[in-house]
This record gives sequence, structure tokens and C-alpha cells, in this order.
Amino acid sequence: MMKLKEHCGVYGVYSYNDESVFPLLYWGLIAQNHRGHESHGFLTYKNGRFHRHVNLGLIPEIKAKNVKDWMKKLPGNVGIGNVRYGTSGLSDEKSLLLDAQPFISEYERKRIGISYNGNVVNNPQLRAELTERYGKIDSTSDVALLTLYLLHKLREKGDIFEAARECMENVEGAYSLAGLMDDGTLFIFRDAYGLRPLCMGTNAQRTCYAFSSESVGLDINNFLNISDVKPGEVITLSEDGIERKRIVSIGCRALCSFEFSYFARPDSILNGTNKPVYEIREEFGRNLGREYSEIVADADMILSIPETANDASYGLHEETGLRWERLLWRHRFITHRAFITPSIGERYGIINRKVNILKNKLKGKRIIVVEDSIVRGDTTKIIIKKLRSAGAKKIHLFVTFPRIIGPCFYGIDMATYGELIGSTHTPEEIAKIIGADTVNYQPIDMFIKAIGLRRSELCLGCVTGEYPTPLAQKIAIEMKEKFLKGVKETGRIYETYL
Ligand code: SF4
Repeated sequence: MMKLKEHCGVYGVYSYNDESVFPLLYWGLIAQNHRGHESHGFLTYKNGRFHRHVNLGLIPEIKAKNVKDWMKKLPGNVGIGNVRYGTSGLSDEKSLLLDAQPFISEYERKRIGISYNGNVVNNPQLRAELTERYGKIDSTSDVALLTLYLLHKLREKGDIFEAARECMENVEGAYSLAGLMDDGTLFIFRDAYGLRPLCMGTNAQRTCYAFSSESVGLDINNFLNISDVKPGEVITLSEDGIERKRIVSIGCRALCSFEFSYFARPDSILNGTNKPVYEIREEFGRNLGREYSEIVADADMILSIPETANDASYGLHEETGLRWERLLWRHRFITHRAFITPSIGERYGIINRKVNILKNKLKGKRIIVVEDSIVRGDTTKIIIKKLRSAGAKKIHLFVTFPRIIGPCFYGIDMATYGELIGSTHTPEEIAKIIGADTVNYQPIDMFIKAIGLRRSELCLGCVTGEYPTPLAQKIAIEMKEKFLKGVKETGRIYETYL
């Protein structure tokens, strides 16, 4: 629910009809605003010039009378956009604004802008290398590194396909990316593992093409979802037409599996699954019912922690016949995010106000609470406390995402061992800490089967400790050893590892 920062949402559009793409960019990002609340931005191109607008917070409402002004401010038949949560760099307001995307880098009158979703793993090494060659970099974020790296490779190679190849070979991490060159070419690419989703759509006349992190960004503009951007693939759109090349192919992929439990919108269809996320979540619920049938037999009702666990609760109800009560409700317009509030007391206050519990049906009941995931455990703990004080007699937690035992290197804000309750505690210990009677995770094999992709097509790093990329694996092993020996973690592990 409100426990974890998402990552970013990317959008890119090219119209061969010479129409203004700003409205398409705007709606494409509105559909994906759940992926990033810290900042948003648009970058368009017309007559040899970039036009950019970035700001903090959600995509703003635009009143009908102001649409023309926005289109004037952001003109052109090509553009990119972004909604962001930073998983690298500083998070004070000044830094967030500086790092808001689309981000532009310029060197000797050559410029590019990029909007990306992901995270750079070899961040300190890349920063050191780029600083040595090109001087101080003002931004602390990885987007600055990625943009600068690409710009210089583009200058050296004179070709975006070759620049992207260099990037895929030398920059370890996750990046699903939309970029603009200073001749108005739109370029799109995805890291060789395809860690973050990215799909391609077009209008019925095939005169306009859009790229979106989630398919809902295409749906909202009435675009057909025609294909995924393949891992290692580069696509360019310009006056000369469309060019697609798969420049790196490593024979496997590693789409983030956490998207299916928590991040993606339920009505999105993520790469290669051919079914909406909500159907997968329903199957997660059925799996939990099958796996923990003894607990189900001893329970009076199912509750779901709103809202990403609703579909799994429905599946659990369908599988078991156990009544699903909607006794937990979120106050929709309380937008404070629990994790950015400094003190525990204040966090408790916000969550307490944000979730309303209908108490009259809970007294003396044995309940199953369905949750999408447990990261730090503190939000779940507060809700369980509220359920207990409302009179619940037994509380069993059913969790769709398997136990998180390690950090994420690829753009989800859980970047140390110390913050993860599952990294050092068994389900029994976690139950004790958060005040539940039992904590029951969906087994990994069932989780994979419900998604419908092969194990080798998914990233499961944070739940298995096996990361798809080599440096992440190395850091994970070394830092875990240190952590278990009691060495204090001093920040995100990919930013502090040298
Ligand atoms: Fe997703 Fe976990 Fe892999 Fe990160 S480590 S990309 S959260 S599955």
C-alpha cells in the first residue's frame, strides 16, 4: 500500500502526422502516475529546439482553457515524458528538481535528453570514470550519469545504435529508456535483461507510435499494443522512418517479478504474459488458498489490505468459498506518504488516519489478511495493531510476494539488508514482530507458475538472493557477509560499494 517507493514511468511518442504530441504524452503519464510521485516532466522537439517542463509532485491537472498554452509551451510532433521516484541521489527538493526527468546533457553544443526507468548498479565506478574525463557532475543521481555516458558515446560513435551497445556492455543495471536527440530523433532502448517493462503501440492509422512502461499508457490514448521492446533492442523513429535492431542478445531475460505483486496497475499487461496483472494476482490468491488450506479451514473471513491485495483476496475467496469482507478502506485523498515522514509516531498517525477499519464485524473473529508484500513490516504492523484493537481474535497474514531477503539493485527503493525484515527473520519471527498469529508467504514456484513466464525470464533477486547481473550478485554476497558480521550499512549498497 503506502510502504514502498515505486520507481519511474516512461513515455515516448512520435507522430508522422505532424500533430502536437503533448496531449498524448500527458495522458500516457497520467495513466502511469502510480509509478512515481516525486517529480514529473515533458520534453518535446520542434524546429531544432528542445522544449522542457519539469516539476515536483504528481502530473498536474490541466484546465481546458489552459491546454493551448501547454501545447504552445511544449510544441512538436515528438516528445518524451517521465514520472519519477529516485532510487539514487539526494532526495531534498532542490536535488529532486535538478534530477527530474527528462534529463538533458550537453557537451560542445551536442545535446540529448532521456527519460528512464531503472537504476545503475556500477554507479560509483561510472561516476568516477565520467568525472575524470569530463569534470565535475552536479547531479547526484544516476540519470545524469546515464545521459552523460550516452551523449559522449554518441559523439564518439556518431550512431545511437553503437552508443546504446556501449551502454549495454558497460553500464550494469536496469534501464528502459526513451530519449530525444538534437535532430528530433526519438530513440528507445531496454537493457539486455529487460528488467523493467516497456511496450510499443500505435494508432489505428499507424501514423503515430508510442512507448510506455505499462500498457495502460497505450490504452488511455487508444493505441494498439503491438509489441514489447525486446531486451537489448534499440528503436529509432525519425523523418527517415522506423528502425529496430536487437543489438545485444544474451539468451535470457529478467523482468522484475515484483511488478506482478505490487507495482503494476491491475489492468496492465506486462511483457510476454498475455494476460492482465489482475488475473495473475487472482491466481496468487488461489495459490495461497491451496497452500494454506488448514488455516483457511479455521478462519471466519478474508480481509485485504487495500488496494494491491484486492485481486488476490478475490482469488482466495473464489478458491476457498470463505467470505471476503471489505472492512479495511483507504481514505483516498490523504496523499501523505508514510515513508517520508521522519518520526515513527508521525508515521503511525498518518497510517492510522489513512486506513479506516469497520469495527463492528471484527469482534472475536479469526481473520486472514491478504497483503501484497512485506518489506520493512512497519506499515503491516500498524494495521494489525488496529485490527487487534477492533477485536480480531486471530490474524493470519497471507502474502502474495515471496519473502524478501535481499535488496534491489534495479530501481526499487529497498537498498540495504538492514531495512528488510525478511533478510534476518523467519516467517514465525516476523509474525511475532508485527503482531500476527502467522505469516504465510506464497511459495516461489507457485508464484512463478501463476505469472506464466519461465523462471529464467524473471528477476527474483530479492527473494532468492540470485541476481541476474554479475556486479549486483557480487555486491549482494559481500555486503550480506559484512551485514551479518555487524558492519553498519551506510546507504544504498550500490552507491556505497567501491
Ligand atoms: Fe524486482 Fe526484486 Fe529483481 Fe528488484 S531484485 S528487480 S524488486 S525482483
